[in-house]
Amino acid sequence: MTQTMQAAVVEQFGQPLVLKRCDIPTPGPGQILVRTEACGVCHTDLHAARGDWPLKPGLPFIPGHEGIGIVTALGQGVTSVKEGERVGVPWLYSACGHCEYCLSAWETVCAQAQFGGYTQNGGFAEYILADPNYVAHIPEGLSACEAAPIICAGVTTYKGIKETATRPGQWLLVSGVGGLGHLAVQYAKAMGLRVCAVDIDDSKLAHATRLGADAVVNAKQGDPIEAAIKATGGGAHGVLITAPSLSAFRQGVGMTRKHGTCVLVGLPPGEFPLPLFEVVANCITVRGSFVGNRQDMAEALDFAAQGKVKADIELQPLSAINQVFERLEHGDVPSRVVIDFAAV
Ligand code: NAD
Ligand code: ZN
Ligand code: ZN
Repeated sequence: MTQTMQAAVVEQFGQPLVLKRCDIPTPGPGQILVRTEACGVCHTDLHAARGDWPLKPGLPFIPGHEGIGIVTALGQGVTSVKEGERVGVPWLYSACGHCEYCLSAWETVCAQAQFGGYTQNGGFAEYILADPNYVAHIPEGLSACEAAPIICAGVTTYKGIKETATRPGQWLLVSGVGGLGHLAVQYAKAMGLRVCAVDIDDSKLAHATRLGADAVVNAKQGDPIEAAIKATGGGAHGVLITAPSLSAFRQGVGMTRKHGTCVLVGLPPGEFPLPLFEVVANCITVRGSFVGNRQDMAEALDFAAQGKVKADIELQPLSAINQVFERLEHGDVPSRVVIDFAAV
């Protein structure tokens, strides 16, 4: 029996991933081993491999936090999952379970939190070690490839929309209609919202319209803030910024309706200027949102299991990972690439 697995490893920041064979890890007490079936490629994996953020992962590491697979081994004491179950190993890999944030369903901001494909090895490998208390439970009827984008792009946008506090009938503006945004449009429609989609690529906007967006704005043409305010009759009640571009953040605040909420989700490195008079005098809320808790995850997956949200996926083998990164960097991925381990 083989004791090694194929993996895509970041050995140096800013360099191509190295495809190599690594030892299959053994689950220690309280851990499980998952045989990967599929793993989505998120723009966060690009930030991780470039070392874009202040908190950097230790090198070398295996990225990927949309990994879905079958539990093949249980460490000592594990009772909450069984061998043969299909689970997802998400960005929120584990947390302490006892701090004020964990106790109040904000485990995503636990100081002890570990992140899949970042501080712990992730899903760009044939096997993943996981914490059974934090894996996603994949509903029957959802394939591994279909489920993969839901466990990051899906839960992040679903939670982000909830954080805008918009109600049915109100306007949600989604800035960036890539992997996250194309799911945000669908969650918002399923939640009864009117959707205005913003991107710099007309093909992404055409796709948003096919997915049900009521209005679209190209952020590279004319005055996009004015266009969005016009399209939404005074600005969107909720704005969700998924674009990995700083200019989208300043614009997104300007597209927010008076007394509305602008939720920041995209994570390009850097800062953006917040126009104080505009934010204060219009009573605008600006807030960050980071993936979602385990209940958000279950709800986000349920929308997909009911067929209300469906990720548009392009399947690729693990060996294509560097080409996929290159395309993602240049905006050349229509929605989401999923690494299909059946194709390795
Ligand atoms: P993606 O590359 O699939 O999609 C990005 C989209 O933004 C593309 O359609 C692109 O054309 C568009 N875009 C680029 N510049 C724009 C601009 N100026 N205005 C409007 N649209 C613009 O990326 P993704 O996987 O959807 O991830 C997006 C961002 O969200 C990344 O920074 C990622 O790290 C971050 N992210 C955050 C969380 C979180 O929990 N907060 C979770 C997942 C991803
Ligand atoms: Zn992600
Ligand atoms: Zn905690």
